[in-house]
Amino acid sequence: MTSLMDRDIRFLKGVGEKRAKLLGKLGVFTLGALLRTYPRQYEDWSQTVSIAGAPLGETCCVRATVISAPREHRIRKGLVLYKFAVSDGEEIMQITIFNNRFAAGSVKQDREYLFFGKVTAQSTKREMSAPAMARAETGERIRPIYSRTEGLSSQIIEKAVRSALDITRGQIPEILPGTLRQRQNLCNIQTALQEIHFPTSPAALAAARSYLIFEELFIFRLGLQNIRGRSKSWGAPVIDEDFEAEFLSLLPFSATGAQKRVMGEIAGDLQSGVPMSRLLQGDVGSGKTAVAAFACYTVCKNGFQSAFMAPTEILANQHYKALTALLKPTGLTVALLTGSTPAAGKKEIKEALKSGTIDIVVGTHALLQDEVVFHNLALVVTDEQHRFGVNQRAALASKGEKSHMLVMSATPIPRTLALIIYGDLEVSVLDELPPGRMPVETYVVDSSKRKRIYNYIKKHIDQGRQAYIVCPLVSEGDNGLAAAEQYAQKLQSDEFRSYNVGLLHGKMSGKQKDQVMIDFVNGEISLLIATTVIEVGVDVPNAVLMVIENAERFGLSQLHQLRGRVGRGQDQSTCILISDSGNEDTRERLDVMRRTNNGFVVADEDLKLRGPGDFFGPRQHGLPVMRIANMVADMDLLQRAGEEARMIFENDPDLAWPEHHHVKNALENLFDLPNGQGLN
Ligand code: ADP
Ligand code: MG
Repeated sequence: MTSLMDRDIRFLKGVGEKRAKLLGKLGVFTLGALLRTYPRQYEDWSQTVSIAGAPLGETCCVRATVISAPREHRIRKGLVLYKFAVSDGEEIMQITIFNNRFAAGSVKQDREYLFFGKVTAQSTKREMSAPAMARAETGERIRPIYSRTEGLSSQIIEKAVRSALDITRGQIPEILPGTLRQRQNLCNIQTALQEIHFPTSPAALAAARSYLIFEELFIFRLGLQNIRGRSKSWGAPVIDEDFEAEFLSLLPFSATGAQKRVMGEIAGDLQSGVPMSRLLQGDVGSGKTAVAAFACYTVCKNGFQSAFMAPTEILANQHYKALTALLKPTGLTVALLTGSTPAAGKKEIKEALKSGTIDIVVGTHALLQDEVVFHNLALVVTDEQHRFGVNQRAALASKGEKSHMLVMSATPIPRTLALIIYGDLEVSVLDELPPGRMPVETYVVDSSKRKRIYNYIKKHIDQGRQAYIVCPLVSEGDNGLAAAEQYAQKLQSDEFRSYNVGLLHGKMSGKQKDQVMIDFVNGEISLLIATTVIEVGVDVPNAVLMVIENAERFGLSQLHQLRGRVGRGQDQSTCILISDSGNEDTRERLDVMRRTNNGFVVADEDLKLRGPGDFFGPRQHGLPVMRIANMVADMDLLQRAGEEARMIFENDPDLAWPEHHHVKNALENLFDLPNGQGLN
């Protein structure tokens, strides 16, 4: 049975083929989708003021009758004004319409209208320029404004929504169960949709928003709960023999207190028989890799396999080397599988993974391929988790029927938010840097200092140190931004003639990139010109200087990640942000970098300055697109929705109860939203 909600909007009064096509461009094909196309904003036409009483220069709504028909004034080519006078019975006001013959033509003398706009005064004469207008009988009310598209005005959408509401009245399925609505003090779906489109008062609008935001967040939390709950019920290998002391003795340094604490948390998870789902958050350089290595080591010593997935080849390579070196004395076998592993090598590794002769495999997305089969995978580690979608995480985990999962991220999301976004995960935090680290000194300068900066770099290279210069582009465009290719060429042939300058960017092949990184690690390259490919994870403690060109082009969190490539050893490191931007917001943003080295502080500031929209770009996190909720602003509702989701999940994990029927449907649609990151 297809529901009324699935009915094609083509058959809706006032829509038809042509407008249906246009609505299709907005992703709206069905009545249900049309009802869920919420207004972008509202205009309050509910309180009218008299012409004399209108507050000057502020938006308001005036009810008045047209007393003179519009007259055309040709000001110059391309500019036509239409002027007419209106009266509210006491005062007269002049209305001007620009270049809109159609609007002017529809204005009828002696007819009453609502004019929405700003009233201004020339001596005693009142005027309103380019107001929005509506026939008086359409009502003094709060009006919805929809995002429009070419050929489809907000008013047309409004009309379509109105008829959709008319024909679905009383038949809109209620997703949130009645008991939940009662507990959370929410209205019903009919009222919510009616009021979100056509609010009868600000309070009713607020109630409608609460309902819809709650609904959206509730389904989202239930989705996360579902991933986790499912795996919980699977059970997982019990990894109970403790190898912590043995592992610590392998490390070339003594672990920090935070590292030991988190290792303990992980060991506890591994023993529990319930699959671990743990997010390890730690600022850049806090030593997450060693913790991951501990988890892999413990699992493998207990006779199972581990997989360690990184977002880039460079990083996979680096982890592979670090693990190989660390575990050499133990006899465990570590392999590397990436897109650029030669075919023969791939085949061999896959066979060995299947037969169980490889203990740990480090790799990139290549690990997700169907042909990669494990003998007894029990642990999946994902590094820099924000680079992967929820679904990729799930895909790798599903390779071990019952695997434990550890995801690591240096994207320093405020802890409360991390808990919410990664609602399906436990969170551990490495809140301590290895001893002896000095904060990176950060300066913000303009390009007049470039020459001095180059000398400063040379001085460091002469002392055996290395440096990075980061550019926003790979190759030159017409926007004047620094581009790595040309920049490297220029420095090598000029200023840094007698030094080894390297180039690293995302358009190079995996092999080329690896070679450059190897040369940099070995010190054969002194100055590396790079794009943000080095942002993630790369570890070269001898690099103590980072210069970032066009720093205004980067987000704060990104700058923090980049800066994290230096300051990884015992010595003082420096980060120089070059920007000629005079924009005050930009200066303020860059100044945050100067003031603090703490990734969590940077993240908070980033959130404040950029807003959550950018911060939680859906693609970045593999999360569904939100229609109305804002995970940051609606944090309180998000928390409450999470509690409700947990309760439902505990009572009815398969959502089999009749009252959960619509919840189940909504859940199935959740990860199909247009960001293309399906869950399955
Ligand atoms: P991130 O958390 O950014 O992934 P890494 O794991 O790459 O950090 O560690 C950064 C650097 O710190 C590496 O060179 C690593 O060997 C070193 N390191 C990690 N833990 C310690 C420690 N407890 N003491 C000293 N150095 C450490
Ligand atoms: Mg790392």
